[in-house]
Amino acid sequence: MSLTIQNPILMPGANLIGAEWSAAADGRTLNVCDPATDEVFAIVPDSGAADARHAVDVAHAAFATWKKVPAKQRAQIVKRWNDLVVAHVEDLGRLISREQGKPLAEGKGEVMYAASYIEWFAEEATRADGDVIAAPVPGRRMFALREPVGVIAAITPWNFPAAMIARKIAPALAAGCTVVCKPAEDTPLTSLALVKLAEQAGVPPGVLNIVTASRERAAEVVDVWLDDPRVRKMTFTGSTPVGKHLARRSADTLKKLSLELGGNAPFIVFDDADLDAAVEGLMAAKFRNGGQTCVCPNRIFVQDKVHDAFVEKLAARVSALVVAPATDSAAQIGPMINARAVDKIERHVNDAVSRGARVVAGGKRIKSDRCPGPNYYAPTVLVDVDATMECSCEETFGPVAPVTRFSTEAEVVATANATPFGLAAYFYSNDVKRIWRLADALESGIVGINEGAIAAEAAPFGGIKDSGYGREGSRYGLEEYMHIKYVCQGQLD
Ligand code: NAP
Repeated sequence: MSLTIQNPILMPGANLIGAEWSAAADGRTLNVCDPATDEVFAIVPDSGAADARHAVDVAHAAFATWKKVPAKQRAQIVKRWNDLVVAHVEDLGRLISREQGKPLAEGKGEVMYAASYIEWFAEEATRADGDVIAAPVPGRRMFALREPVGVIAAITPWNFPAAMIARKIAPALAAGCTVVCKPAEDTPLTSLALVKLAEQAGVPPGVLNIVTASRERAAEVVDVWLDDPRVRKMTFTGSTPVGKHLARRSADTLKKLSLELGGNAPFIVFDDADLDAAVEGLMAAKFRNGGQTCVCPNRIFVQDKVHDAFVEKLAARVSALVVAPATDSAAQIGPMINARAVDKIERHVNDAVSRGARVVAGGKRIKSDRCPGPNYYAPTVLVDVDATMECSCEETFGPVAPVTRFSTEAEVVATANATPFGLAAYFYSNDVKRIWRLADALESGIVGINEGAIAAEAAPFGGIKDSGYGREGSRYGLEEYMHIKYVCQGQLD
């Protein structure tokens, strides 16, 4: 199966700053590798501080006019962007699979998922109404008006190269903000393609700007945006340490922040659950994108009575998963993003086994005729996992399902909440009273009840505690890009 891009316009291989697609100011370049082989297949700019500053200059200049474009007109442009993204689903899916490694069905699925956010915010743009406030004294009219916050800096990770950037840029444009953005080193191509399509949709020059950079230069680019008072908001998806760094470093310019950070999601199966549904839910939530998702279950707790039956069913399903490059039409799990990712997975599994966990499926790297590249790891199930093991304390970010046995509801709720993170939590139960007790008790921004696929454009996505703050998607997602201005007119009587 070919991942060749049919429409070469989708691979501009350059930054967009203002109206110009250009190289980095100092001419440096970044190689983009195929995670299935580690071979270089594209080159993009390795941008630095000068490019970052130039992008803010043009975004700041463009804000003066873009914010005055009527919401309906902005909505029409964003809607055209959605239409173009949907029309290019095949090529965009191939691009995602090529640079990120996920199977093509998932790559195309991500394109449609990204488009759903773009369409949603095109529609929300026209409903960003303010309020007329009942004045407490005579002779006054009082209003709460919504205004775009200004220039937005968007920084995104590699695991969903289309969706992460779409759900930041679409609400920003819809709200009337202008944007500077930097995608992850591993996956710059999908973002460039999306920006190309936004340009074709009629987003005016300067309103949407993108610079690509290597991991070594990421901080150089982002520091410029952190320090520049003209950048009024930073929206970041990535790891908790980098998110905390951005929060600290942006304090001097008091930027508005949205931080979508790491998770350590519990997945709890009670004795009264539908076991088959729980296994299916776990397969969807855990193994999508090879387990490289922030909301994927990282700690699986199964109650005594159903533990062995659940593990047996799970191990059978996991052992049957097909691991292969995205070019293989049977692939269900692709390569991990890079060597560091595979090293971390291996470290977590070895640590767990050295402390008493048992491997009941997978548990090793894969190197075979079907998977000749260096970045494959077998889908894995571990049992007898406890809270001291590395895989219980931090995201493994790979296809590893670590299972822990529990006895009581009180015990499992305490253990599930005993983490600094709070992004997603899942549980399976058919006891209606327990369902609402758990929905209240779990410390998490998102709770999936008898459901493993929780993300949707209409739903507020985001965490609490060390998983960050701010919400993406839903009507709340637009508010992140607007502030409220109170206007009071007196002397009216
Ligand atoms: P990361 O290392 O924090 O990188 C995220 C972005 O920040 C990338 O663009 C990266 O550039 C950039 N970056 C790295 N160091 C930086 C620095 N010192 N200053 C400024 N920017 C910097 O995270 P990742 O490993 O790519 O992504 C995985 C993480 O994202 C996981 O923790 C996952 O849970 C989280 N995530 C969260 C959500 C959510 O919605 N909550 C969604 C998806 C992923 P380079 O790529 O060039 O390093």
